[in-house]
Amino acid sequence: MARINDHYLKLKAGYLFPEIARRVNAFAQAHPEAKLIKLGIGDVTEPLPAAVIEAMHKAIDEMAKRDTFRGYGPEQGHAFLREKIVGHDYHAHGCEIAADEVFVSDGSKCDTANILDVLGPGNVVAVVDPVYPVYVDTNVMAGHTGPANDRGEYTGLVYLPATAENGFSPELPSQKVDVIYLCYPNNPTGAVATKETLAKWVGYAKANDALILFDAAYEAFITDTVIPHSIYEIDGARDVAIEFRSFSKNAGFTGTRCAFTVVPRSVAGTDAQGNRVDVHRLWSRRQTTKFNGVSYVVQRGAEAVYSDAGQQQVRELVEFYMANAKIIRETLTSLGYEIYGGVNGPYIWLKTPGAMTSWAFFDKLLADAHVVGTPGSGFGAAGEGYFRISAFNSRANVQEAMLRIREKMGAERL
Ligand SMILES: *Cc1c(COP(=O)(O)O)cnc(C)c1O
Repeated sequence: MARINDHYLKLKAGYLFPEIARRVNAFAQAHPEAKLIKLGIGDVTEPLPAAVIEAMHKAIDEMAKRDTFRGYGPEQGHAFLREKIVGHDYHAHGCEIAADEVFVSDGSKCDTANILDVLGPGNVVAVVDPVYPVYVDTNVMAGHTGPANDRGEYTGLVYLPATAENGFSPELPSQKVDVIYLCYPNNPTGAVATKETLAKWVGYAKANDALILFDAAYEAFITDTVIPHSIYEIDGARDVAIEFRSFSKNAGFTGTRCAFTVVPRSVAGTDAQGNRVDVHRLWSRRQTTKFNGVSYVVQRGAEAVYSDAGQQQVRELVEFYMANAKIIRETLTSLGYEIYGGVNGPYIWLKTPGAMTSWAFFDKLLADAHVVGTPGSGFGAAGEGYFRISAFNSRANVQEAMLRIREKMGAERL
């Protein structure tokens, strides 16, 4: 028989979202009359912007004719899209990024996972806790960790707790680490990083020859003008950081699939002999070998995000979700809950009342208000005692969910 990858067996069986689905299904079966509102999984609900739809229709028509038909495109993405990306997302913000440092892909989830292909074993890897589970699980799969304890922490990983006590901005690691995952605006806490905070991380990376993997999937939700949208707004970040961006959350591409990763030519690692190696070259080699590019139609759709109409429509989409976030924040605050996030990101991070665990709050919210959220402990040990509520839903559902919470989960029970 073929040998399997034993590291997969270390993965915690009850991954967060299947366990949520299990409890929701059990509840729905016992209470078929209950109308559940899901403010759990971070998926968008509103349709694609009109400019994107129009561009994709046009691209489909091109594919229908011999003289405009396109076959394989460049694995790294079409130049028309890479140039729009650098112009709007980087040059307009004073960041020096070249079009050939941008790699278009079908998602940031896969890119944040696949980047491990070009990194060797033996790196000390740090994650912020709570964390987007992909960063952790892919390191487990790659054999970079030992087994998990009963809090879900894997030996060999460095966890940097982000809690209310440190303003959800973790301290620098006390030991030397080689790879650091950062996600700002943060999923799940909704926290953002100021220029000073990011500069501190870039300084650490420079001093320790570390690589920062910066996930900026939610940059479009930043409303505060002093908060950087890209890590490359920090001097020196070009030498130490890879940035992941996605069209999923800003433009509603979760089902359409398009994202990109920026690997500056100045980012380097070392080989077994200690020689400096250009990571851009390796990532390019990886993508051209294992990936055949994003569909032409989808890349035309993504390009349209950067048109004047597209920019306006994306802004409206983001404002729509952020107005939901405001309704959630105001309701919960008025009910006496301690809440964080929801200002520069679509997630509200709530402190569970009293000594209630994250899962106890989940069960109560489901049973009393028929509302589904996400237990903070599912994102890491430091998420215990917290709970995530997503602003991705229709206005009517958000309002109805808040009405129910006001009625059933008010301050009187805190
Ligand atoms: C949604 C999300 C992404 C985007 O993933 P895609 O694969 O591009 O849809 C990336 N990182 C985080 C933290 C996310 O929440």
